[in-house]
Amino acid sequence: MDNSGEKKQILIVEDEAQISRFLQLELEHENYATTICADGREALNLSLERDFDLIILDVMLPSLNGIEMLRRLRQSKQTPVIILTARDQVVDKVTGLDIGANDYMTKPFAIEELLARIRLHTKRPAQASSALTCGKLVLNPDARIATYDGHAIDLTKKEFDLLEYLMKNRNIVIGREKLLDAVWGFDFYGATNVVDVYIRYLRSKIDDVYGVTLIETVRGSGYVIR
Ligand code: CA
Repeated sequence: MDNSGEKKQILIVEDEAQISRFLQLELEHENYATTICADGREALNLSLERDFDLIILDVMLPSLNGIEMLRRLRQSKQTPVIILTARDQVVDKVTGLDIGANDYMTKPFAIEELLARIRLHTKRPAQASSALTCGKLVLNPDARIATYDGHAIDLTKKEFDLLEYLMKNRNIVIGREKLLDAVWGFDFYGATNVVDVYIRYLRSKIDDVYGVTLIETVRGSGYVIR
């Protein structure tokens, strides 16, 4: 029950056009977005550049075989991978799982079984752990909840947005104009003192209450949260 509203992105790496086309039709019918790639090296580049939710990977491919492609991918990314092997490629299954494939299917495969495995490996964690933290300060942008050391902080929408922006850019000094633009939009252009006012609100709700200095003023530059 993924309600993010976004289609999951699947990369189909397969040089047999008939199979890749079949997979594409089946997957798009199941509401996945698909990309087809028929070349191992190209597939590696694509999967490093983009964040696919899952990769279906054939083993016998031009320019770079599936096993080697997976080995290189795993040096930097943990995208779920289901390997497709021909029936007589037992060695590939073992090697594939050894180097980090999440699953394998033997060709010819039953599409229902492949779809079931895709569902299994693309399940996103229930809590899309997007929480931002800064010491004991924790912000959950999805739930719009802020806590300090487990205590809820009551923030208005703008206060929350401002704090979220600062925390997303933790350790980076952000100018008032930039904050104004990011949190309030261009409408308020020129009214940078509104930022100072809201920084004061945040300090009174967090720094003053918990005796810390989370939001620092950088003279002439702006604000930073560390
Ligand atoms: Ca092939």
